[in-house]
Amino acid sequence: MSGVRLSPAVSHLKPSATLAAAAKAKELKSKGVTVYDFTLGEPDFMTPENIRKAAVAAMESGHTHYTASGGIIELKKAVCAAYLRDYKLEITPAQVLISNGAKHSIHNVLASLCGPGDEVIIPGPYWVSYSALVELTGATPVIVDTTEESGFCMSADQFRHAITPRTRMMMLNNPSNPTGAAYPIDKLKALADVAVEKNILVLSDEIYEKLLYTGAEFRCFATFGPEVAQRTILVSGVSKAYAMTGWRIGWTIGPVDAIKAMDNLQSQETSNPCSISQYAAVEALNGPQASVEAMRVEFEKRRNFVMDRMRPWRQKFGVTFAEPGGAFYAFFNVSACFGRPLAGGATVSNATDFCTALLEQSHVALVTGDAFGAPGYVRLSFATSLETIQVGLDRIEAFLAG
Ligand SMILES: *Cc1c(COP(=O)(O)O)cnc(C)c1O
Repeated sequence: MSGVRLSPAVSHLKPSATLAAAAKAKELKSKGVTVYDFTLGEPDFMTPENIRKAAVAAMESGHTHYTASGGIIELKKAVCAAYLRDYKLEITPAQVLISNGAKHSIHNVLASLCGPGDEVIIPGPYWVSYSALVELTGATPVIVDTTEESGFCMSADQFRHAITPRTRMMMLNNPSNPTGAAYPIDKLKALADVAVEKNILVLSDEIYEKLLYTGAEFRCFATFGPEVAQRTILVSGVSKAYAMTGWRIGWTIGPVDAIKAMDNLQSQETSNPCSISQYAAVEALNGPQASVEAMRVEFEKRRNFVMDRMRPWRQKFGVTFAEPGGAFYAFFNVSACFGRPLAGGATVSNATDFCTALLEQSHVALVTGDAFGAPGYVRLSFATSLETIQVGLDRIEAFLAG
């Protein structure tokens, strides 16, 4: 199949780098090698039992056909009830669209609201799919680099300075993949004030909303008042909070007319999200929430373990990082070891080569920061067992020690 002419829209599209890194690790595993895999961007827990049972019940009672394109009313109402319960945010089902995962939600938002000539501000380091999905619409991503010193949070001044007459939207991910940054509420409020003053839409990706650590507090972006809510498109879903990545349910909350346009797009492109998954998601939101906290506590233990192990690396190896307040990633700068011999005599000059050498030498898989617009950095997901984390960190340390 060589020589097929691709459309202009996809000809420059790269495969998701995180999925590519996971594939490389998988390939090594298939050869019988034990790989300590930290590339995974998903909880390693089983989906809670009450949710699995609700899916079985949905199948048994015949919910196995097309639903309304934008999702079943029960799930839209469950989303409304959850935001009222958790954040005191009042929304109506007409403001909610259910999609095939939050990634699909983000695509719907961008495809419906952005196009050629528009600029979309993205704080960097950013999630791999953001820039790719912006470019797919013909709009231009404008990356605003944040620093480790700021905890990888974009300041209101940085946001203001990046705005031009073409700016259509700002994409925020709080807590953040890949950095683990959790915005302090005052910094978030300052961004909301700029969005109102300059009349910029904010796509707030809050998929890690339930995963915060060491007392960091989450604030839903739309709760800073009606003027902010009018300009906010919230995206979230069940993947991360309920360990439901395979079920493919995400949602968008926004102004009624924008949601209607996205529903039209979805009805033409994919029809409805999986009927069975939608009923399972109703149970996730309406049922007991204890499992969400139980998983968060487990993630926090791992996070603290990883940080305790990594702090001495600052002195020992010149590795630098900001400690994650949320999500399940450690994001650290290894550029201090570029050009000096690592284990096995390897020398590397960038983060991508670092990851390749680490995988080959030590059988540890990380994702290169080059994929997130962060040269010199690597991402370690601690959504894996403490045993794996323990051995994996031993191996990274030995690799760094050379
Ligand atoms: C995992 C993730 C998502 C979406 O996940 P879905 O499985 O598509 O719901 C969205 N944004 C970020 C930043 C993520 O890490």
